[in-house]
Amino acid sequence: MSETLTPVRPGKLIINGEAVDAASGKTYETYNPATESLITTVAEAGVEDVDRAVRAARAAFESGPWPKMKPAERGRILHKLGDLILQHADEIAHLETIDNGKPIFESRYIDIAMVSDCFHYFSGWATKLTGETNNVSPAFFTYTLREPLGVVGAIIPWNFPMIMVGWKAAPALAAGNCVVLKPAAETPLSAIRIGELAIEAGLPPGVFNVIPGRGSVAGEALVKHSMVDKISFTGSTEVGQHIMRTAADTVKKLTLELGGKSPNIVFADADLDAALRGAMNGIFYGKGEVCAAGSRLLVEQSIYDDFVAKLADAAKKRVPADPLHPKTRLGSLVNEKQMKSVLGYIEAGKAEGATVVAGGERQTVNGKGYFVQATVLAGVRNEMKVAQEEIFGPVLSVIPFSDLDDAVRQANDVFYGLASGVWTKDVKKAHIVARRLQAGTVYVNTYNYFDPAMPFGGYKGSGFGRDLGAACLSEYTQLKSVWLNLE
Ligand code: NAP
Ligand code: MG
Repeated sequence: MSETLTPVRPGKLIINGEAVDAASGKTYETYNPATESLITTVAEAGVEDVDRAVRAARAAFESGPWPKMKPAERGRILHKLGDLILQHADEIAHLETIDNGKPIFESRYIDIAMVSDCFHYFSGWATKLTGETNNVSPAFFTYTLREPLGVVGAIIPWNFPMIMVGWKAAPALAAGNCVVLKPAAETPLSAIRIGELAIEAGLPPGVFNVIPGRGSVAGEALVKHSMVDKISFTGSTEVGQHIMRTAADTVKKLTLELGGKSPNIVFADADLDAALRGAMNGIFYGKGEVCAAGSRLLVEQSIYDDFVAKLADAAKKRVPADPLHPKTRLGSLVNEKQMKSVLGYIEAGKAEGATVVAGGERQTVNGKGYFVQATVLAGVRNEMKVAQEEIFGPVLSVIPFSDLDDAVRQANDVFYGLASGVWTKDVKKAHIVARRLQAGTVYVNTYNYFDPAMPFGGYKGSGFGRDLGAACLSEYTQLKSVWLNLE
């Protein structure tokens, strides 16, 4: 298996515009899950480092140039960061693939584009944030000011390490906030590299800080810190609930993007070749470690058996392989724990009566790695564990439905509400189903598309608030109402 291009430098904390060690001097090791080998060591932020980073961000917000800068200048700096990410695309994509195990094709051509697009898109918003004048009475001049919140703490997961930097930091910074970002301990390397590039782009000291460390220590300290105004979190439901409780003490604003168990509905009248490709990419892109994964495939009864047979054939061709090979489309899961959890779900599905029609096993590549085969479970009922719980791996649960009402009922009969898909050639049916699905995103005859201009977030147990789009800027600003007496 091809290894790192060059030795990867030890990762540091990025605090106040400098790459520094942890105050304790502590470091931890980050591994390549595909080879099980050590990549490098990373400085491990403790409570003291979080405090240092938050104070740097606070000082940058209170007395630094960032919030007072002309918005056009702020926009130029963020645009330059987007450019620098593109200029270092090969290097960052490589870091992402060795740290996370995802195919280099995805890191290099999907994730890099998304993270640089985020900085470019939101750089344009810096100049377009406005308040309004309000028509109250001739006796007053009344208007609103849209102001940044102050210090934003961003806590992100390991499945899209670099993309999440763009989703969280780009809009928060464009609005004039300062950011302290905690990457997942498992995958810190791309965020640290982007933190270094932010300094090169000209972000003033303290405006963007990156503090790799454990969630239970560094994440916890960030959520508790009284100088942090908001936490923007993406991750598991359990940790999101915990953050919500902890944040109550300091009345912090929150955006929570939590898990999903998204239904992808295939009607008999769909373009079935397209639906097959959509079902495959809906679950196997990102190894299925994707919050929006179309992990519950609802297939109309009349085509169920044929469609399951086609899925099984296609899944057997999607063989796990070296993530650094450009042709690979299924990489290694992020670590051994995640692999064991996914294999446990496959066993639970079998125990409840589901049939494994493709995959189902661990696989190694050159004798190493935490790969799981592209797995299709047929004969799944919506009440089974594999239909209700987020597996977060390459496992598709295929469930039959009888008609439109039954499809919508089963689709919505779940705790989550993040994404959904519908495949049909009947335009009216597509719009009816789109209205009835309880999900933050509905894909019609496509799946797993994302763009900085389209808001993304959850209904129900999948959280609240929105990343991306113009909508997310209200998550990083607050309104001040000004009354001026004219009499
Ligand atoms: P996770 O365990 O919830 O971790 C997410 C982040 O929270 C990590 O940075 C983690 O740190 C940190 N964290 C853990 N405990 C914390 C605490 N007590 N206080 C503050 N921060 C804490 O989730 P994960 O295992 O990384 O990611 C998988 C999950 O994220 C899945 O359930 C998936 O659906 C969800 N997800 C949702 C979306 C979405 O947009 N809705 C996107 C991606 C993933 P450490 O890991 O470093 O300890
Ligand atoms: Mg790693």
